[in-house]
Amino acid sequence: MTSIYRGRFAPSPTGPLHFGSLVTGLASYLDARSRGGSWLVRIEDLDPLREPADASDRILASLEAHALRWDESVRFQSRRHDAYADTIRQLLEQRVAYRCTCSRKELAANAGHHPNLCRERTSVPSTPYAVRLRLDDSTVGWMDRHMGPQAQVLKAERDDPVLQRKEGFYAYQLAVVVDDIDQGITDIVRGSDLLDTTGAQIRLYDLLRAPQPHYLHIPVIVNADGQKLSKQTHAPALDDHRPGANLLQALRALGQRPPDELPANEPDAILEWAVAHWSPADLPADCGTAPA
Ligand code: GLU
Repeated sequence: MTSIYRGRFAPSPTGPLHFGSLVTGLASYLDARSRGGSWLVRIEDLDPLREPADASDRILASLEAHALRWDESVRFQSRRHDAYADTIRQLLEQRVAYRCTCSRKELAANAGHHPNLCRERTSVPSTPYAVRLRLDDSTVGWMDRHMGPQAQVLKAERDDPVLQRKEGFYAYQLAVVVDDIDQGITDIVRGSDLLDTTGAQIRLYDLLRAPQPHYLHIPVIVNADGQKLSKQTHAPALDDHRPGANLLQALRALGQRPPDELPANEPDAILEWAVAHWSPADLPADCGTAPA
């Protein structure tokens, strides 16, 4: 049976993979492979100031050590600036994006309304500006494959997301949608910490006249203090010398039940079992805790 399923794992290289990112990467891999689909890896390196020079290489080496093999070549968002610039030009021309000179502080002091009347301006400002998406008041709904029916209320002006920052960097909200469309991604499996970003992303799909993908948001992994594992919360790097044990722990965090007979030192055998038995219905409702 041929399948058009195309999934992806899209880490931001702010540091090496930790247990939480392994869980996310593994879930997207299992969902794709169990459907006979493609699984792509995309490095979301949009902000060089937050990215250690060796982080991308370490992430890819870690995936390989865990036998998580991707299809096609790895995409780096740092090489996609022309595509992002084209999309911004198109959105500005359609007047669904606008140039914003307000600082975060000014917006916060003004209940999210633009004191510089950015939404009304038609000329190009002479001072540095961000580009924002112009939202309307609306409710965006989708059926999340794990979290069920979702409805997100978008507020015009106050929720308008940044597409390009004043410093010139392209923002996650823009790049993720441009690349998911360009790469033909049909299914997005990622952490539920990104749930809040989904409504505006769906709006962008509509504006760019692209079909909306299916979403599956998985519970995020937290540390003993209840914080999401991340570089900021000092999540330790994965130990690439024990890939089998890491995969088994990650499977349990995803509510899967690998049998005791699986050889803990054979990542390929563990993944083969996990693809054959992948059951999103068994994902836990809540956050899992990282192994101590
Ligand atoms: N690059 C984002 C992150 O590492 C994930 C993007 C996505 O899956 O939509 O948090």
